Amino acid sequence: MIEVRELVYEYPTKRALEGVSLSVPAQTIVALVGPNGAGKTTLLRCLAALEPPYSGTVTIDGLDTREHPREIHARLGYLPDFYGLYDELTVRRCLTYAAWSHGLAVEAVDTAVTKAAGRVGLLDRMETKAGELSRGLRQRLGIGQAIVHEPKVLLLDEPAAGLDPQARRDLSSLLTSLRDAGMTLVVSSHILAELEDYCSEMIIIENGRIVGGRPIKVKDVERPRFMIEIATARADFAQFLKDAGVDVVEVDEHHALITFTRNAAARAKLLRDLVTAGFEVSSFGESSKALEETYFSQIGRGAA
Ligand code: ATP
Repeated sequence: MIEVRELVYEYPTKRALEGVSLSVPAQTIVALVGPNGAGKTTLLRCLAALEPPYSGTVTIDGLDTREHPREIHARLGYLPDFYGLYDELTVRRCLTYAAWSHGLAVEAVDTAVTKAAGRVGLLDRMETKAGELSRGLRQRLGIGQAIVHEPKVLLLDEPAAGLDPQARRDLSSLLTSLRDAGMTLVVSSHILAELEDYCSEMIIIENGRIVGGRPIKVKDVERPRFMIEIATARADFAQFLKDAGVDVVEVDEHHALITFTRNAAARAKLLRDLVTAGFEVSSFGESSKALEETYFSQIGRGAA
């Protein structure tokens, strides 16, 4: 659904993206993460056909952003990190205005507005002015405006910023339901633990490049991540795991982050083998913060 090839983007004083290539399949949610100033917003703006590439190509649903920006805007929803709402307009009018500006047929507007408001949980606020909404509700309205025309692709720049825990949970189920309804989403965020709930892949950007050169699988239901800790350091820990055919993500002399089958008997065997080989296993469990661990293990290593 989204194809980026060797994308380079330059501001007058700064090269912000340097040879970014990626591919996002339809009906998936991909996380875009990286330190401040890494190039996330710039990449999202390029995907949204708001910035033409300096070189390279960006294709959305088979359309090149340089050649078909208008057609892409009709198929795409974009919520920037900072955006304004018309504070004097009610929620209904804001959504109606967004529907009109996306060129919806007049007879389709009311239904689209009600549907978008329902999706973001604002049906009971339709007559409230945008200026009277709390931050979380404004955020929902922003997303409602971005999806009112039922885009195929939805780009969200830090949508969870400033939301309370309940609102974040609501956002997480909203994004999942939009994906299930057929949308393809790219979500930038600094809140890694939450991205883990709904993203299938993570793109780490650093200094305008994708770290490791490609997206990283966030969750594999069949092969989750496990953290093994051993009480006494062993220099041969990595070699032992390698010889045992274990898929190692990160390892040092005390810890190993591995991907391994869910099969309990296979895990019991690995544990037994470790103990038999004299490793003092102090902990062996499914890693609950896999995304964060991967992020910190990758960041600062330099990009491909
Ligand atoms: P953050 O997490 O802080 O939002 P980001 O990853 O979204 O950061 P970008 O906003 O894409 O980063 O910025 C990438 C780089 O481009 C930064 O070095 C930034 O200073 C620079 N930059 C962004 N906008 C401009 C501009 N209009 N002119 C010149 N440089 C810019």
